[in-house]
Amino acid sequence: MMKADQPKATATRSQPIHFRNVKIFDGLSDKLFDGEVLVQGNRIKEVSRKAGGIQAKGAEVIDGGGATLMPGLINTHCHMSYCGPQNMGHIPVEEHMMITARQAKVIIDHGTTAAIGAGSAKPRLDIVIRNEINAGYTPGPRYLACTPEITVTGGLGDSRQLHFYHNELAHYFDGPHELRRIVREYCREGVDVVKLMLSGDHLIPGFCDADQTAMDEDEVAIGTHIAHQRSRKLNCHARNPESIKRAVKYGIHLIYHATLADEESLDLLEANKDKHWVVPAIGFTYATAYEAGDFGIPPETAEKWGFVDELAKGAETMKKLHKRGVRVLPFGDYGFPWTPHGTETRDFEHFQKMLGFKPHEILRAATAYGAEAFGKANELGQVKAGYLADLVMLDGNPLQDLTLFRDQATILMIMKDGQYHKAPQARRKAVQRQAAE
Ligand SMILES: [Zn+2]
Repeated sequence: MMKADQPKATATRSQPIHFRNVKIFDGLSDKLFDGEVLVQGNRIKEVSRKAGGIQAKGAEVIDGGGATLMPGLINTHCHMSYCGPQNMGHIPVEEHMMITARQAKVIIDHGTTAAIGAGSAKPRLDIVIRNEINAGYTPGPRYLACTPEITVTGGLGDSRQLHFYHNELAHYFDGPHELRRIVREYCREGVDVVKLMLSGDHLIPGFCDADQTAMDEDEVAIGTHIAHQRSRKLNCHARNPESIKRAVKYGIHLIYHATLADEESLDLLEANKDKHWVVPAIGFTYATAYEAGDFGIPPETAEKWGFVDELAKGAETMKKLHKRGVRVLPFGDYGFPWTPHGTETRDFEHFQKMLGFKPHEILRAATAYGAEAFGKANELGQVKAGYLADLVMLDGNPLQDLTLFRDQATILMIMKDGQYHKAPQARRKAVQRQAAE
């Protein structure tokens, strides 16, 4: 294997940055507080809850003008290389790498500073983009690189045809022996996360629907065993109760969808709520049900396939999980033609309207809880002394307006690892508002 060890493109800045006159959402609280933050190197050095509480000689002073300072968003179900409207499997790898780099920038431009890969569209796209981002050559969030979606013949992601050979997005296998080799290969290539497709989906009606479990238990057992042996994270596509139970039994910490959970699987998730995070990707179900007409799935078809029903059932399941204290996280399955990158925070509105989450619960899930799933609960997702300086500044109060992230002009500053991705801007909306009053 070729390992592209490159020198870093950027050096850590030495001048501290002092944010003053900001309202702070710290990642956990249910309210904003007035305060100040000092960033030194790549970390938050100090957080004060009062004006003038930080004295920092020689620091660059940023007067936020009352804007909100909060942790960068953490997307725990990110397909950085998924794109549209082309058939993704048919895009040559060279073009696909460039598209992935563009999308990495779109994602951080919208305030997401860390993301967990949920399936790479080609074997090494995730690995290469992660390396390029980490080396500082390509703008993008911190990223955990994932395998392609690993699926069985006839499972979700297998759209091959018998009469001619072509590959698609997924990596196919049958039997524990093949899977053992595949997971080892991807560990060798350098993935951080292994993705297994445990259940079917409404997207492939007729050959493996959402209520069917596609991957056999001996396959799940060996795939998870190798991943654990090599200290990799795992995530899975699991809609129905059987697949959810398998995910818990075999320690797959990130469970995607879980929309059709029954009482028994709800109990199991509750009993293991400190070990698992559920990411329903409700925005994808919503968009497929109602907004995918231009891409060949008119609402009548989506309804026939079961998406309307799935949306209602999924919303009910997530309400129950939330009530039971299971961490349910936003984002997921953006990057399809009808869910383009940059629109991920539509999930905030879905969580509020369909799942009944309160705004601070949504933002907490998108920051502090996302950091837990990322494996950096003690370093990411909070505005707290000692934590990594991944911060965004917003022109407004996100607890009152969950749409703020959808307008790039509202995101006044984006910082990752103590470096500006977007240098601080003046509060345009506030100025406009004052002028209008
Ligand atoms: Zn996905």
